[in-house]
This record gives sequence, C-alpha cells and structure tokens, in this order.
Amino acid sequence: MNNCVKNNDITEYLSDPLIKDIAKKILSEERLTAEEGLFLFQYEHIFETGILADFVRRKKAGDAAFYGNNLNINHTNICEMKCPICAFSKDEGEHGSYTMTVEEILKKVEKYKDKGIEEVHIVGGVNKHITLTYLEEIFSGIKSINEKFHIQALTAVEYDYISKKENISLKTLFRRLKKAGLGSIPGGGAEIFNPEIRKIITPDKISGDMWLEVSEKAHREGIHTNATMLYGHIESYSDRIDHMIKLRKLQDETGGFMAFVPLTFHPYNTKLEHMVKEKTDIYDILKVIAVSRLMLDNFDHIKALWMYMGQEFIEVALHMGADDLGSTSIEEQIVKSAGGKTKDIMKNEDFESLIIGAGFIPKRVVSNYGI
Ligand code: SF4
Repeated sequence: MNNCVKNNDITEYLSDPLIKDIAKKILSEERLTAEEGLFLFQYEHIFETGILADFVRRKKAGDAAFYGNNLNINHTNICEMKCPICAFSKDEGEHGSYTMTVEEILKKVEKYKDKGIEEVHIVGGVNKHITLTYLEEIFSGIKSINEKFHIQALTAVEYDYISKKENISLKTLFRRLKKAGLGSIPGGGAEIFNPEIRKIITPDKISGDMWLEVSEKAHREGIHTNATMLYGHIESYSDRIDHMIKLRKLQDETGGFMAFVPLTFHPYNTKLEHMVKEKTDIYDILKVIAVSRLMLDNFDHIKALWMYMGQEFIEVALHMGADDLGSTSIEEQIVKSAGGKTKDIMKNEDFESLIIGAGFIPKRVVSNYGI
C-alpha cells in the first residue's frame, strides 16, 4: 500500500465535497476546525483521511520512520489513585505489590547497559514512599552508568504528587530532576481531558487542566514532553477532538511537545471491563492516527506504539500519519497487565525490517529526537 500522492493529485482520490474542502485547507496549510475534525472521525472512507494524513506526514518527516532502543523500568506498582482504567496498580501490602530500591534499579540498568539500550524509561504508581531524593539518586545513578543514556521519566500525575508531598514548586522539582539527569517526560496521565469522562475512568487523578499546567511548567524549564490520549473506552469523538485542540493550543504557546501518543485502551483486568468489553478495532486505531496527524498541525511526530496496536498493523499506521513506532521497551509491565498481547520485545532488526518493508527509512533515535 502506498498513499504517497503529489499535491495536485490529492483531491482526485477523494469522494465527498467536504473532504475535498478539507484537502484544500491542508494543501494551503490552513488549520482544521473542531467541526472538521469531527467530520473526519465520522467519515467512513478512512483511507481517504489516510491519504491526507500521509501527505502531511511526508511533509514533516519525509520517508523517515523513527524507533528507539530503551529499557523500561516500572519502579513501583503501589498506587494511591485506584483508577478504574488501570490493571497495573496494587495496594501497599497486597500480594504482588513492589517498590524497587535505587540499588535494584541501577542493577537492572547495569544488566542491560551493554545490550544496545540508549534510553531508560521510568514510570510507576503514585506512591507515598517515593521521594525526590530517591528519584535524584536513580537519575544521577543512571547517568553515572552511562552519561549518554537519555532518561524519560514519570507522568504529570507523579510530578504533581511529588511536588505537593515535598512542598516544593513544580519549577523547583523540574530544576532539581533536570540537574540529576531527567531528559524528557513521556506524557502519560492525560487520558481524556473531558472532566465528566475523567470522573468515571480516573476519578482521583489530577484534572485535565492540571495535566496541561504540569506540562506547561516542564516546557518552561526546557524539558520536552510527549502528550498522550487514552481512547477506546467511553469517550466520544467530540471528547477526542476537544483533547487534541487543548494540546494544540498549549503547543502554540510553548512548542514543548515532541510527539502525540494515542494509547488504545486495553480493558482486560480493569474495573471498566464490564463497560468496555472489547478493545477498539483497527479502523478506529488508524482513524485516530490519521485524524491526530491532521488536527495537530504543530506536532512534529505521531507515535503508533507497537505494544498497543500490535505489530501486524504498524506498517499500515506508517501510511496513515504515524512516523514513530516507539521503542524496544525491554521489561515493560503496564500494557501487559491489561492484556496487551504483543510479543515481549522488538529488536532493532525487527523494527528495521518492518519499516523497510513498509517503504520507509528506519531512523533510530532517543525520545527527544536529538533536540
Ligand atoms: S493509571 Fe497510574 S495513577 Fe492510575 S492507578 Fe494506575 S498507576 Fe496509579
């Protein structure tokens, strides 16, 4: 499949007058409205939307498709938040709960340091035993193992909690952690910004506005972040568009987002399993990728995480607006807890043959794309 079409040809492939109008706006680099985004979600010919998304993707990233080589550390699964969307967290003392010591974490990094990793990705639960000193020791310890390792760590939810617990501002928290080695922030915890949906899927977590504020504060300290969106649960198309428009607005102000990362909801083992029996289908997954590429005109990268969508569809995603497939993610636990069925790790060779097979040029990067 190759959606690569030239400027003047683009409208020839489109059937509906409204999508032709949208194509004209895209060709003249005009921003799409919320109504147009909604139309794209409702539009049944998703491969036409994909043609437009591929056009924008090739303008921004050319023939490159990015992937990374990282070790995943989920330092604790003890969490006070109890989000119904979560299959990973446990109570303190519950069977299977854990918090890794600094030494255990550094031992793990030592174990993988010569196995090609270039990045350490750290996220965990909101746990009262996690202190700023613990995080500083982890980050500086990783840097002392290899100064070049990029550290991408923690969600806005964890930063908000730690700053309040330690009674310091987010600005001070970010300055100290950056000094200890923090490189960038993965962007989790955004879920869906609509407060009515958040009340059901993640009632204890910070609000969408607070998530945006934490991201903004990080950007102001020179720390780049990603922005996630969890979809395929009880949200509507309008909720998705509202989410994207809020991200686009903050990006206009700070320019601090690197990639948009849509996360497919995996219902298994979560408290929402009774409401969302099946995870969303591949058409919806591809639609989210294509629409986000078109709505988020100020984002350089759209990630199609192989762990969330399955290896068999990521080649198609590269032709529907995605330019980044995520990382090797050695030892990832969170998606697996919720029934993610992808194989354990993807090796460099797997990424490269997949990307070349899809007609793109593989580029291995760390999460900040060398910013
Ligand atoms: S989603 Fe995150 S904040 Fe919510 S319960 Fe799970 S680990 Fe805790």
